[in-house]
Amino acid sequence: IPSISTLYRHKMLHPSRSEDLPTPNQQYNDKVSLIQYDITKLEIDAVVNAANRGLRGGGGVDGAIQRAAGPELLKECATLGGCETGSAKITDAYNLPCKKVIHAVGPIFDSIEESEPLLRGCYRKSLSLAVENGCRTIAFPNISCGVYGYPGRAAAHAACREVYAFLKKPEGQKLDKVIFCNFTGKDVEAYKEFLPILFPPT
Ligand code: ADP
Repeated sequence: IPSISTLYRHKMLHPSRSEDLPTPNQQYNDKVSLIQYDITKLEIDAVVNAANRGLRGGGGVDGAIQRAAGPELLKECATLGGCETGSAKITDAYNLPCKKVIHAVGPIFDSIEESEPLLRGCYRKSLSLAVENGCRTIAFPNISCGVYGYPGRAAAHAACREVYAFLKKPEGQKLDKVIFCNFTGKDVEAYKEFLPILFPPT
């Protein structure tokens, strides 16, 4: 599995067309990166989907993933019996360039008290599933930050904290790269606030 810098060298990642983010690939320590990119294009082990409880497909990143993967993905999802909010399930990736898709069901934002444990659960369960399935590289979209309405800064904080906690654990040592993949650039500043504190350069 190529590193982010290798992906860059081979032009598999290219600078964003958006004006929002002049430096689309921000590397923090050796394990954590922030990119602005279409998550369906990443040639890594595991890509996380922001799914719904029925695992029935939808709009946003879910629609993009389902379209790029092809109809077989939705067929496999239909066999899984849905997924609880705050948890995740893993499938094959079909026509996507990644190896596995992890379908995480984020909360529809209510209050921080209600929603944050569920959002953190999505990150924790996704990271565990990646390790259990031999994935060493994983990319997350901004789970719950689209139609589910989670405030971007609070979501970035929860995401960064949960990844930090996981990478500290023995099972976290089995991951080589965690990528925060922003699509629109609107939440990038929040990640840029928290990532340098939690993951200073090595
Ligand atoms: P949710 O229902 O969990 O809020 P959405 O799909 O509406 O999920 O949005 C989650 C995030 O995914 C949003 O920040 C949106 O900008 C982003 N997103 C949409 N398409 C893509 C894509 N192709 N790659 C990466 N992120 C994407």
